[in-house]
Amino acid sequence: MSQPFNTLQERFADLQLLRYEVPGFNLLPLRQKLLVYYLSEAALLGRDILWDQNCSVGLRIRKTLEAIYTHYDGPKDNAEWQAFVVYLKRVWFSNGIHHHYSYLKFEPGFSREFFMTEVNKLDADSLLLRKNETKEGAVAELAEIIFNPEVMPKRVNQTDGEDLLFTSSCNYYAGGITQAEAEAFYAHLKSKADPNRPPMLGMNSRLERNKDGELFENIWRSGGLYGQSINRICEMLCKAREYADNIQQKAVINKLVSFYQSGDLKTFDDYAILWVEETESEIDFTNGFTEVYGDPLGLKASWEGYVNIIDHEATRRARALSDNAEWFENNSPVDSRFKKKECRGVSAKVISAAILGGDLYPSSAIGINLPNSNWIRAEYGSKSVTIANLTHAYNIAAKGSGMRQEFVIDDITRQMLDQYGDICDDLHTDLHECLGHGSGQLLPGVDADALRAYGSTIEEARADLFGLYYIADPKLVELGLVPNNEAYKSQYYSYLMNGLLTQMVRIEEGCQIEEAHMRNRALISRWTLENYPDAVQIVEKDGKHYLSITDYELLRKAFGALLAEVQRIKSEGDYEAARHLVEKYGIKLDAKLHKEIRERYKQLDLAPYKGFINPRYELVRNAEGTITDVSISYNEAYDKQMLRYSQQYSTL
Ligand code: ZN
Repeated sequence: MSQPFNTLQERFADLQLLRYEVPGFNLLPLRQKLLVYYLSEAALLGRDILWDQNCSVGLRIRKTLEAIYTHYDGPKDNAEWQAFVVYLKRVWFSNGIHHHYSYLKFEPGFSREFFMTEVNKLDADSLLLRKNETKEGAVAELAEIIFNPEVMPKRVNQTDGEDLLFTSSCNYYAGGITQAEAEAFYAHLKSKADPNRPPMLGMNSRLERNKDGELFENIWRSGGLYGQSINRICEMLCKAREYADNIQQKAVINKLVSFYQSGDLKTFDDYAILWVEETESEIDFTNGFTEVYGDPLGLKASWEGYVNIIDHEATRRARALSDNAEWFENNSPVDSRFKKKECRGVSAKVISAAILGGDLYPSSAIGINLPNSNWIRAEYGSKSVTIANLTHAYNIAAKGSGMRQEFVIDDITRQMLDQYGDICDDLHTDLHECLGHGSGQLLPGVDADALRAYGSTIEEARADLFGLYYIADPKLVELGLVPNNEAYKSQYYSYLMNGLLTQMVRIEEGCQIEEAHMRNRALISRWTLENYPDAVQIVEKDGKHYLSITDYELLRKAFGALLAEVQRIKSEGDYEAARHLVEKYGIKLDAKLHKEIRERYKQLDLAPYKGFINPRYELVRNAEGTITDVSISYNEAYDKQMLRYSQQYSTL
């Protein structure tokens, strides 16, 4: 008998864990189940890479905390112990000691004394000691890092005017390298690269200094930095290759393995092209150094991996958009110089995630568009996915949360959100991923990194605005994607409510917005509020502030105008304009409003961040040892999964 699926799992600090179901897995033939299985193994084996990228002491701290957790024999109702458990669960969730969204270091709720007492009970093998290091020395260092708020306070700092490398504690640059030095190093490399087809310089290495004081890249590859992890990933990729969906997918895997072996960026581009051109497989994956949000300079890519299974039904919806990509590009409010002359298809797919790994675990995106290389996107297109089973889990968690009751201005608007909210959310994600990121072009000679620290925010704003502008277009009704000409209003309301009010609940009082997607939402919303007061206002009722939208058609014009400007900034590489927009609208919070929103939210007793527990796949063998099936199970607890991963997939 099957149990009803239990989406909501444990909740602690500001986190809620969810479980996601993988529909269709049990119906796959054994070959495809094995493909999912081995690709999943490859996706889990990069976990330690990410931990080390996030912070140089991340793995040491994880190992130490896990040893305390498994050896502790004191009372479980002890407040210190309970605070310790919450701390460890947060560290697991963030893949390190800094918050996954705000990047600020966690404040431990337990005392240094408790830590010292427990850690001293462990033998030296339980810690990850460096060569010639004593246990005392290691413990003192870790305690200082965990408890002294001055040490490694922030993982990624993007404060304008500060040295972003000195003030960020991510592990992409060796200590002592200044931002100016790193920028000069990469400017020099760039000057020698092909300007029309530039490689993703810096994406797969740690920048270090040799004994003569010169900078060099320590490459992440077989035989190089993270070589042990990479070799094990390659081993699983090669097993997966035996069960590939088609010849092209085999070639993709071969090229990826050869990139992992050489670390050569040209090979990476060749791999990305093969991968983007392979669109027939039902099971697909990404595995590698991908997103650059964790590097304050936006060059170094954090490791992530995931595996997905196509959702045929929902994919028809997304294809309706991508099949019309050219129409959308031609009709956008953007200056024609910045439009793509010819639309390379974005292959849009709706998928179910089968496993999440590295920087996608436990906190995951719900839409992904790759590759990131601008010239490959322009010449070969990109693959865009919307992850339906994760969105579904979020929707279940959101139902009955009380958010709409508290923050939406009136019943009519609430009814509209209840009626169209889910459809339009999915559609906005599709538009953002399938069309938004893939639209537009840089003017000849414009450097893709010209916007530097503001690049990620501007790029997200561009994709969001494209979605906002088009979700109101009659074309979508014509394509049968929305039921009528009113549905889009639900997206306009929920988007601006989030950007102006509710996303603030995720930010501690006294702090400002750091994360690129949040900065983008604030930028769009506040720019609109300031420049289109006839369309959007913040109103006060009984001491509480609400979003009021009085002219939806005018609002669409506002989104179109901002889209045109943001595309211009991107196409021309106008750094000053990007900086002005982001600094003025995307970062600072109104302290009074922030406090009010947080208080109202607190009363609902909800967790602002969510993440996922993975299903577990296991090989099933018969008496002769032959593999007869791959089972999937959903009952592993969060801490058990984390401990198992630390054991089974520990590679560094
Ligand atoms: Zn995006």
